[in-house]
Amino acid sequence: MKLVVATRSTGKMPEIRRILLAVPDLEVLDLEQAGVARDRAEADLEPYDTFERNARSKALYFRARTGLPTVADDSGIVVDALGGAPGVHSKRFAPEAGRDGDGLEGAELDLANNRHLIARLADVPSELRGARYVCVAAFLDADVAEPVYLRGEAEGIVVNEPRGSGGFGYDPHILVPGVGRTYAELSAEEKDARSHRGAAFRQLADLLLGRAE
Ligand code: IMP
Repeated sequence: MKLVVATRSTGKMPEIRRILLAVPDLEVLDLEQAGVARDRAEADLEPYDTFERNARSKALYFRARTGLPTVADDSGIVVDALGGAPGVHSKRFAPEAGRDGDGLEGAELDLANNRHLIARLADVPSELRGARYVCVAAFLDADVAEPVYLRGEAEGIVVNEPRGSGGFGYDPHILVPGVGRTYAELSAEEKDARSHRGAAFRQLADLLLGRAE
């Protein structure tokens, strides 16, 4: 079976590939491999206020480009002291981040978002810095109208000083409770075992394995 993983994120893609290795005979295609050229319309795919609706929007859009089974990941970090922000707006939380297509990208974007997060929490003591990563994978088979949703969450505590070089995004600032390391200080396998994306995509792997039986 072919499966298009509908993300342009260089941080998410290797994580998703690793987790889906559990499914034998699954050919995982990124958008480039699926022949989907970048389009400005992609900047407008996630206007909604839930991870599910944004993931659904991306899955529907990209499946229409290829006709193949497609999964889209919408994810972010939900910070208790910020009333759940940045949540679905995690990718472009910093005011200077700009828009998809013509804003900051890569390491510059991550740095701006992380600085903004730490600035917003400047007056918040460590015991009130709880947060959780959320990932919703919307899986849309080739011939169905609505996706199946797989949701994973991973707890964290926001710390001021960045630590570690693994992962991506907010990982250097998010301490794994009880472990004493940030998500960026975990090995790839350790992050997969604990992360929101690991939890969501293992459920997808189970679903695909069940269908193959
Ligand atoms: P999306 O592309 O709209 O789903 O935005 C996801 C954003 O949430 C990313 O660009 C990161 O800023 C953040 N994020 C999601 N998952 C992770 C993770 O595993 N580590 C760090 N940041 C993440």
